[in-house]
Amino acid sequence: LSRAKTKSTPRSSCDVAYVQLAGCCGCLVSLTDTYERLLDILDSIELVYCQTLMDEREIPECDVAVVEGAVCLNDEHMLEEVEELEEHADTIVALGACASTGNFMRLSRGNQQAAPTHEAFVPLTEVADVDYAVPGCPPAPEAIKRFLTLLLEGKEELLEPFAKLAE
Ligand code: SF4
Repeated sequence: LSRAKTKSTPRSSCDVAYVQLAGCCGCLVSLTDTYERLLDILDSIELVYCQTLMDEREIPECDVAVVEGAVCLNDEHMLEEVEELEEHADTIVALGACASTGNFMRLSRGNQQAAPTHEAFVPLTEVADVDYAVPGCPPAPEAIKRFLTLLLEGKEELLEPFAKLAE
């Protein structure tokens, strides 16, 4: 799937979807730990989707989708969510180690007897065209704050390390 990419301009208003796949909500908790900066960030974005906070069923058109969790290849609903992400989000951000690298789910793939179902889990970066990754389990609040600030300010050069982590 290919998407039109819109990056690099400062965002005075930005529709953001927070998407939770196979994760533990720890990344969302870390995001809320950015305290004062989170309030500034909430002033400059419109949260349009978050399963924990809203009753929306489909990921809407949005400027940025921040995604927590790995992808279960056996879960058709989750695979549809990934398709929606690619169709509806201009920019996709893999937040946390599960979405970026697969984290412990990926490590478990070599140990089928201990964790037979984990073979089906892959990082979002493996099945979707992800623009940026912010690794960590969970990512440090400071790292999330820095990334979101750069993204909202359209500092594309400084975002390059996060883009490389998504490759
Ligand atoms: Fe939870 Fe860590 Fe995965 Fe985030 S990266 S969803 S904190 S297990």
